[in-house]
Amino acid sequence: MNNDKLHTLSTPKDLISQIHFDYQEGKIWLAEQRMLLIHASVMGSLRKELIATLGVERARGFMMRFGYQSGMKDAELARKLRPEISTDEAFLIGPQLHALKGMVNVALEKLDFDVTSGNFYGEFNWYNSFEVDIHLAEFGVAEEPICWLLIGYASGFSSYYMGKKIIFKEVECAGCGDKHCHIVGKPAEEWPDQEELEQQLLPDHIIEELFALRYEISTLRESLVDNQSPSEELLFNSVGQSKAFKQVCHLIKRASESTVTVLLQGETGVGKEVVARGLHLGSERADKAFIAVNCACIPPDLIEAELFGVRKGAYTGATESREGKFERADGGTIFLDEVIELSPRAQATLLRVLQEGEMERVGDNRTRKIDVRVVAATNEDLAQAVQQGRFRADLFYRLNVFPVVIPPLRERIEDIPLLIEHFLEKYHNLYNKKTSGVSDRALQALLSYRWPGNIRELENMIERGIILTDNNQSIEMNSFFPSLTEPTHPLHIATATGKVESAGLTEGLQGSSLVEQLLQSKLNLDELESQLLQQAMDKTDGNIAQAARLLGITRPQMAYRLKKQTS
Ligand SMILES: [Zn+2]
Repeated sequence: MNNDKLHTLSTPKDLISQIHFDYQEGKIWLAEQRMLLIHASVMGSLRKELIATLGVERARGFMMRFGYQSGMKDAELARKLRPEISTDEAFLIGPQLHALKGMVNVALEKLDFDVTSGNFYGEFNWYNSFEVDIHLAEFGVAEEPICWLLIGYASGFSSYYMGKKIIFKEVECAGCGDKHCHIVGKPAEEWPDQEELEQQLLPDHIIEELFALRYEISTLRESLVDNQSPSEELLFNSVGQSKAFKQVCHLIKRASESTVTVLLQGETGVGKEVVARGLHLGSERADKAFIAVNCACIPPDLIEAELFGVRKGAYTGATESREGKFERADGGTIFLDEVIELSPRAQATLLRVLQEGEMERVGDNRTRKIDVRVVAATNEDLAQAVQQGRFRADLFYRLNVFPVVIPPLRERIEDIPLLIEHFLEKYHNLYNKKTSGVSDRALQALLSYRWPGNIRELENMIERGIILTDNNQSIEMNSFFPSLTEPTHPLHIATATGKVESAGLTEGLQGSSLVEQLLQSKLNLDELESQLLQQAMDKTDGNIAQAARLLGITRPQMAYRLKKQTS
């Protein structure tokens, strides 16, 4: 090691005098900038986490930009402290501050610059890089140079100082086995890989990439669902023996003959998307796209772009122009679930699509003609949302031209056996299994259950039952209602005759007396449920989540049951 080179830079007294510890205020100052003392090992942990979360490429970019910003700040200081900026001495404030901050010891090899003409060439050696220490400690010897923050700093400092983009590259690094680190800096345009180098210094909008990926996944999902549609059509057309559901089918068939906008209302899980798809498949648009969107699953500030598309550069991170769901549904049908969640701006655009059949992408001024059949759905009262000012009245009237109410499963229990058959077939195929179906006692239990989660809950239960049951065995009741096996969490119990009743709580809630009461006073099931809920709420001082846990049900189920009591 060349010790002379190590000591080329004299102790910068003018810089040291700029450091102030203001203990009373809890502040450290470097001239007029507030600074922090941070543990190097904590930087090491952060770096490790960044690599684990973002991968090496992104972590490197992040650290480089971190360094770049800090280099720019220091160059600002350099210009104030040593105003003769054409001298080496003024430029060396950067390397000196690097050492002063404990990041690396810098030795000057070559420096040749001219601020006026913009010529620049610099070579430095680095010793004792803190990044080498933390990288070796966490990851061992690297394949490529790893002084990311430091190299970003060198580029940021020099760029600010020179008033043009200067890029430093680390050509040797102690982190990958070299004796010491060695860096070379030149104007960006003199590097053959200029574009790639500059790219690393640009902010990286990972959120936009995530949305692009989600867009691809939803396209894939839609094409998969399209392939499944015959069975879903079957579901819609054949699984509906109850009067309540036949009425729905009748309305939907009527609607499918026209292009009227349809509003589906019903509790969560009643199968609104299946109905919407049935409507689409029964219409003249059947061979065109059916696009389903759950408006509640998209962040409000992105919903416009998701639905109506976006023009490149419309907002930070919109790196590509892309079409929205409406354009993809052109000629076909779009299903907007939870339509109440639309932002005010998205509501306005939707209204225009419905009234005039045209729209613009976000940030674009080109008007596009659009021919989309809209099926909207909500499980909340839209009229009430209008009164509360959460939803546009004019849009509500446009959507509510043809309202269809889908009944909850408990009002169409005749359909349960057919639905069970449907889901058995679906999940037997999916899991490549063949159970003997649902036991009689279990079927009785399913028919007596109140189904707060509706068809979706039934589907989940059948899937679970199939997973838990061996081939050629019947799915038994405890696969559906596992809480029955835990005496402290009973929910429903089937009696010897197969009738399901809410169980009393055996512990904690004076449960046995409830069962006795039931027997003695002939309380009906609803009254019993009411008492159970009340006692659980009393016991937990009105905490719904705790009360739900006590009863072995989920919080939403508990809330649902409580609401049902009061209505
Ligand atoms: Zn290095």
